[in-house]
Amino acid sequence: KELTDVNALVDECLRLSYHSMRAKDKAFNAEIKTELDESVGKINVVPQDISRVLLNLLNNAFYAVNEKKGQLNGTFEPMISVGTKKLDSKVEIDVKDNGIGISRNIIDKIFQPFFTTKPAGQGTGLGLSLSYDIIKAHGGEIKVESKEGEGSEFTIELRY
Ligand code: ADP
Ligand code: MG
Repeated sequence: KELTDVNALVDECLRLSYHSMRAKDKAFNAEIKTELDESVGKINVVPQDISRVLLNLLNNAFYAVNEKKGQLNGTFEPMISVGTKKLDSKVEIDVKDNGIGISRNIIDKIFQPFFTTKPAGQGTGLGLSLSYDIIKAHGGEIKVESKEGEGSEFTIELRY
């Protein structure tokens, strides 16, 4: 573990993820909102591991808005927002999208290994299960709230 600047890590992952999305689909465009709390500072984590989690969440978010764009065609404005917040003894990082959302029937399964709704070759179903393990190994929490057709919000909590 090393002392890691949370906002810098979030920002770096956002850039990486956006660029990889654009590399796959040159027409891709989304509004990206960031609300980074400057008082968040540094936490003691394995930065590569937390990056993997953030990249997973962001890649899922980009996929979700892109899917919805495909369904609605033109009338839809993709939005992804990423925020950090300092609470008493912990940092909260949230990744939110206005994509396809997650139905209530499957939301309890998304953190299970190999669970995916993506077509073969597009998803391994390992992103969230790995993310869950990484956050648990850091003594943190990862939670989801979602509404089918409207979007999803994933929240990570990590202790100082
Ligand atoms: P994969 O991305 O390879 O499918 P994940 O473990 O990252 O595997 O996600 C598992 C499933 O959870 C996805 O297939 C999808 O059904 C759902 N999911 C995860 N994030 C989102 C999101 N932001 N919006 C909608 N569905 C999501
Ligand atoms: Mg994924």
